[in-house]
Amino acid sequence: MNMRADVIVAGGGSAGLAAALAAARKGARTVLLERQTKLGGMGTNALVHTFCGLFHPDASQPWAWLNPGIPTEIGQSMMERTSQTAPDLMGKVYVLRQHPSLYARIADEMCLAEPQLTVLSGTEWTGLKQGEAGWELDIITRGNCQELNAKALVDTTGDATGARLLNPVWCEQTEGARLYRPAYICAFHGMTGTHDDGWRLQVGALIVRAVRDGLLPVASMGAGFRDSPFPGETFLTVDLEAGQGEWDPFDPVKRARVEQEGREIAMALWSFLRSKHADFSECPPPMLPTKAGIRETARYIGDYVITGDDLATSRRFDDDIALAGWPMEKRENARGPKFRFFDEAKPAGIPARCLFRQDVPGLYFAGRCMSADHEALASLRVMGTCMATGQSAGELAAKHASQH
Ligand SMILES: Cc1cc2nc3c(=O)[nH]c(=O)nc-3n(C[C@H](O)[C@H](O)[C@H](O)COP(=O)(O)OP(=O)(O)OC[C@H]3O[C@@H](n4cnc5c(N)ncnc54)[C@H](O)[C@@H]3O)c2cc1C
Repeated sequence: MNMRADVIVAGGGSAGLAAALAAARKGARTVLLERQTKLGGMGTNALVHTFCGLFHPDASQPWAWLNPGIPTEIGQSMMERTSQTAPDLMGKVYVLRQHPSLYARIADEMCLAEPQLTVLSGTEWTGLKQGEAGWELDIITRGNCQELNAKALVDTTGDATGARLLNPVWCEQTEGARLYRPAYICAFHGMTGTHDDGWRLQVGALIVRAVRDGLLPVASMGAGFRDSPFPGETFLTVDLEAGQGEWDPFDPVKRARVEQEGREIAMALWSFLRSKHADFSECPPPMLPTKAGIRETARYIGDYVITGDDLATSRRFDDDIALAGWPMEKRENARGPKFRFFDEAKPAGIPARCLFRQDVPGLYFAGRCMSADHEALASLRVMGTCMATGQSAGELAAKHASQH
């Protein structure tokens, strides 16, 4: 079978969801393809449970949405469904707790409301050609190969898949030792008690002692807990070293090892904590994610590569299409983040040139694989900002399709 569209959006995470909605709302016949069965990317399948980057960075002021349109719509919808009336103030930043199941449902509802949008789930993008009429993509759904054609393509796979399939010169990847570390997130249910910073310190100390006594794997040291918006549910996140310099997110054997290590630590912590801490005593085995969280792989080199210094100085550009407000949260090892905050609590601009290359007309990229240096990515990869760059890439793609 051969399908034709105006715009194809490949990858249905936060960036792809926003891109597909934006393109369809501009009137483009849009196809959104996603290899998993839920939209939302890391925010659903890896159980990432806070939306960062949705709010103005000046936390000395009352909270305010940073980017209008789809990021704000998704944030508002999440607030209503979780009965939150305001984001949480965490140190110097506002964050919104989000629920992965609700995010998947919000994504479904928003897509179903767009008559111009078709979602293909369980569909892997495997090949790319540049034809006379635009882009030809090979896709596979349960062993069934098809071709998809469109005038414009938005790559929101997080992995710069289009560049890696067609011309690797269009993308780059930081060396394994510095790639932001993957992490494993799972959900504990049946929790009791209240869980403030003091509680987190106390549980952390319990875990450190157990590691020293050989009762828990060393990687358990990186465990962090955050409550869901719903009582009784707490998410556990464990950052993983993943072989440090040996880490290669495109190596399926190493990916499998990360998943195995994540499950091993999650189960070891569950077993230990339910016998040692009253708040965990009624917890059944934790709910595991569909996949481990991958923070960084390959990203495009667009007409402009936005840098950490651009963000730190809140630089603005003539062709700004979205704003960034999240600090650079650098996680090059599993011992916790190193933050680089903006010099002033003012948003930074993201130029349109980070979402395309003029020498490849009709190809756009957004989200985690947009054109940014390693340091800037530590800010721009958060979901609120991915929604904003996705929205702009979708609009640019729809415009391109209408003109060709
Ligand atoms: C452990 C961890 C904790 C994080 N914490 C936070 C946080 O607290 N707050 C926050 O805002 N952000 C957080 N982030 C960052 C954020 O989750 C991601 O950077 C963000 O989800 C990236 O969005 P994206 O749409 O670019 O990519 P993704 O969310 O990765 O989505 C890409 C989508 O493309 C699909 N895809 C890829 N290749 C193909 C293909 N060939 N064919 C079909 N489909 C394909 C994938 O299945 C996926 O659904 C965290 C990330 C991790 C890993």
